[in-house]
Amino acid sequence: MSRFLKKILGVNESKEYNISKVKIKRKVVEGVLEACRNVHPREFIGLLRAEGDAITEIILAPASVYGKGLAQFHPHMLPFDFSLVGSIHSHPSGSGRPSTQDLNSMFNFGFVHIIVTFPYRNYQDLHVYDKKGKPMQSEIVE
Ligand SMILES: [Zn+2]
Repeated sequence: MSRFLKKILGVNESKEYNISKVKIKRKVVEGVLEACRNVHPREFIGLLRAEGDAITEIILAPASVYGKGLAQFHPHMLPFDFSLVGSIHSHPSGSGRPSTQDLNSMFNFGFVHIIVTFPYRNYQDLHVYDKKGKPMQSEIVE
C-alpha cells in the first residue's frame, strides 16, 4: 500500500502523516499547464489521482461545474475513489496563495492541493499545499 493510500485510509497515521515532498509526473505538469492556458481567463478545476507515491493523472471536474469556479464544485458528489488524493485549480489572477474559499471548500478533500497561476508557463507556476494551506515541497518525476 502506498504512503498516499495509507494517509487517506488513516493507516499508521502518526508515522505516515508527514509527507515531505509531493512527486508529480512531468506529463501531468505539462498537461495541466496547457489546460489552464486553454480555459483562461476561466478557472481550471480538477482532481489529482496518484499511483504509488506520485501524482500521475488529473481528473477533470464534471462538465456541469467546469468553468463556473470553485463555488459550484462539490468533491463529495463524485464517485468515491481511493486513488484521488486532492485537487488542482488555476488562479487566473496570478495569486499563488489559497483563498479562504479554497481552504473551506476543496482543501477539505484529500491532502494535497495545487494552485496553478497565470501565465501558466512552467513548473514555477505550480504551488503545492497541504489541506491546511501550508506549502509543500514538490518535484517532477518522469
Ligand atoms: Zn483558489
